[in-house]
Amino acid sequence: MKEVMLAKYGELALKGKNKSQFEGLLLKSIRKRLLKFGDFDIKKAQSTIYVIPASEGFDIDAATSALTRVFGISSVNRAAVVEKDINAISKVSAEYLRDELASADTFKVEAKRSDKSFYLDSMQIASQIGSEILSKFKNLKVDVKEPDVRVVIEIRDYGAYIHSGNIRGAGGMPQGSGGRGLVLLSGGIDSPVALHMAAKRGLDVVAVHFMSPPYTSPMAQEKIRKISEKLCDWVGRLPVLFVSFTEIQERIAKYCPDNLSTVLMRRSMMRIAEKISAKERCGAIITGESLGQVASQTLEALICTDDATSLPVLRPLICLDKSETILRARQIGTFEPSILPYEDCCTVFTPKNPKTKPNLREVIFAEEKGNYLEIESEVADNYQVEIFRY
Ligand code: ATP
Ligand code: MG
Repeated sequence: MKEVMLAKYGELALKGKNKSQFEGLLLKSIRKRLLKFGDFDIKKAQSTIYVIPASEGFDIDAATSALTRVFGISSVNRAAVVEKDINAISKVSAEYLRDELASADTFKVEAKRSDKSFYLDSMQIASQIGSEILSKFKNLKVDVKEPDVRVVIEIRDYGAYIHSGNIRGAGGMPQGSGGRGLVLLSGGIDSPVALHMAAKRGLDVVAVHFMSPPYTSPMAQEKIRKISEKLCDWVGRLPVLFVSFTEIQERIAKYCPDNLSTVLMRRSMMRIAEKISAKERCGAIITGESLGQVASQTLEALICTDDATSLPVLRPLICLDKSETILRARQIGTFEPSILPYEDCCTVFTPKNPKTKPNLREVIFAEEKGNYLEIESEVADNYQVEIFRY
């Protein structure tokens, strides 16, 4: 029996004149992501992408699940494909969904006919297939409201497709359709979720991680690697830039009043991120900050942080509760590595009483003593790059 995958896109279909450009990016993402599962062909028609296995060993299970994590796809169907003949469709439907039908109590047939030249209408298709199934599976009754199994028949231009309903896709926009952004990736729970949300809206992402050896352990870097591998399930490829932040933190500890040190550290991160963004062609900085979560995430503190860069700072989690973020982290698979115990540079240098409402003038004044800019330029020129791949 020949099987294919149908990927449908939602929001993208609304893109009017730019639609073909978006479709091109989506096809490119799909091609790259499925590469490792074997040979396949791709075609598109009627807001659907057809992925057709072209080699014996093509791993359709793994490929279907990978497709559900490509941004821009709203749903995926793994379907049997047959010629557009009602007898063939009946026979294959009963065979293809045999296991599901045999163990269910109720079912329903849904027919969709986008090829209007087909000789039966949707009602006629559904009733004919329904009778065939009822005659073969004595355990089954029809339930149109809440069936255990759906038998979906789609009569399309290229053939008839049989499946048991949609598998939800990742949604969002195709990668790269929204430009490129630099994500500050800390190793905590929040920033990996922020990266996922930004990438979902079409940003190509590059991550930067600040580390402060020997205050931070090599295990903290290892933790970032584990998180990055998980994120590749969604973004396919992720460059991670490791920046040494030790000297800056030592200077802040030496020259800055303790209660302002976190704000100064965040401003320094922003300036370095801006410099790196110029080299990496990124047009925005993305963080995992959420309003009011800690002292550095009050409105006053965020104003001081934003002042350090002219790039837009995107904060996808700004209005999420921690519990909502944790739920997302679990869904995308980053929660487990994120709760590994190794501490990053922020945690190591956390002051006892950070100021919750810093004032920009006093912050700039405190910054003048440390002479940070020169070291920041040096740091921004000397980072270590690791590329992670799906
Ligand atoms: P997270 O859970 O992402 O660590 P957080 O709640 O611990 O966030 P902070 O430690 O204040 O909050 O960090 C806020 C944001 O600053 C992080 O979400 C991340 O985007 C960025 N950031 C913090 N520390 C680092 C780091 N060591 N390297 C890169 N980015 C960082
Ligand atoms: Mg953190």
